Amino acid sequence: MKPSKRLQSLSSAIFTEMAQRKRVVENRGTKVIDLGIGSPDHPPAPHIIEALVSAVQNPANYRYPTTEGSNSFREAVADWYEHRFAVKLDPQQEVHALMGSQDGLAHMAQAWIDPGDLVLVPDPGYPIYAAGVVIAGGDMYPMPLLNENDFLPDFSQIPDDVARRAKFMILNYPNNPLAATADRDFFEHAVRYAKDNDILIVHDLAYSELAFDGYRPPSILEIDGAKEVAIEFNSLSKSFNMAGCRIAYVVGRAELIKPLSIIKSNIDYGVFLAIQEAAISAIRMDISGSYPNRVAELYQKRRDVLLDGLAEIGWVIGKPKATMFVWARIPEGYSSAEFAYTLLEQVGVVVIPGNAFGEKGEGFVRIALVEEEEVLKEVVTRIASSGLIQRK
Ligand SMILES: *Cc1c(COP(=O)(O)O)cnc(C)c1O
Repeated sequence: MKPSKRLQSLSSAIFTEMAQRKRVVENRGTKVIDLGIGSPDHPPAPHIIEALVSAVQNPANYRYPTTEGSNSFREAVADWYEHRFAVKLDPQQEVHALMGSQDGLAHMAQAWIDPGDLVLVPDPGYPIYAAGVVIAGGDMYPMPLLNENDFLPDFSQIPDDVARRAKFMILNYPNNPLAATADRDFFEHAVRYAKDNDILIVHDLAYSELAFDGYRPPSILEIDGAKEVAIEFNSLSKSFNMAGCRIAYVVGRAELIKPLSIIKSNIDYGVFLAIQEAAISAIRMDISGSYPNRVAELYQKRRDVLLDGLAEIGWVIGKPKATMFVWARIPEGYSSAEFAYTLLEQVGVVVIPGNAFGEKGEGFVRIALVEEEEVLKEVVTRIASSGLIQRK
């Protein structure tokens, strides 16, 4: 008996290797600090948990939910989009609940791709972008995100025949793993390119609320005419520390979100209503300002503690404007994997080699800001005493 061939192209050897090596180092008695996986380490705000508790006690919430989400959830999302981005959405037609953005991104290719069709994916990129295409049996064209282009794709480098075969392109700003951001000019450019080439843009805005120093990431739907060619995913996982709840949504023109809805309505019956109630509470309190969202402050302080500390010992990394990640160029003389393994062996700190997210990630590692400031100070101390970083 043999499982499918596509399973082999799915497992990332690097993630598996890091996990194995972490166990070996732990078994030696080292207390390993894991800055690998980007999972929020704080709980949601108290009012969100209270909303969940009281919704769990309501017997009416135990029937099958609907795939698209409850009316009140979709209304809350539409109101939030207007409040946050001045983007108007019809809650009935233009908002659809998801069991996490992961669910939506995984099923997008199934809804849009036939054999021979192609998806433009960022390289480096969040793993589900490529995995979704592999599962659907589609082809992929990596768009390199390079430091010299501010980590934005260069559409002029995409060959015409590739553009013709492309059904959709995935964009993600603020970006995981790069922690890069994009301004309105870039989104205008992307919308024009998508219109000229009849390509759907799928924008993953998972980090819209994790931005620092007063920066407010835009929605692509703010751009004139974007609704004709773009849909957007957003999630409560990072913005409200609700990753374990599995709740997110896609917004956009009805015709463009319908295919995903049809696929999903054949697979699942939607998100547990109690979770939707908790999400409504998170969104409504944010709109009303009665419980301002402070999740970003936590990561901003951690960013400063880690990067100021590393700069002092000679590892100078530019401060990102958003996300919970730092994308760090590694010292010369190592590959990304070699450096990550060395950091684990000698310092007991897990980071992810950049090429785990695509070929163009070589030369970098991704550091997730998922430990408290004291622990990040300990990381700096350990790196300093290891002598791994040579002061120039
Ligand atoms: C964390 C993350 C998501 C959110 O996924 P959920 O399934 O909603 O938890 C989506 N995109 C990126 C780039 C992420 O890092």
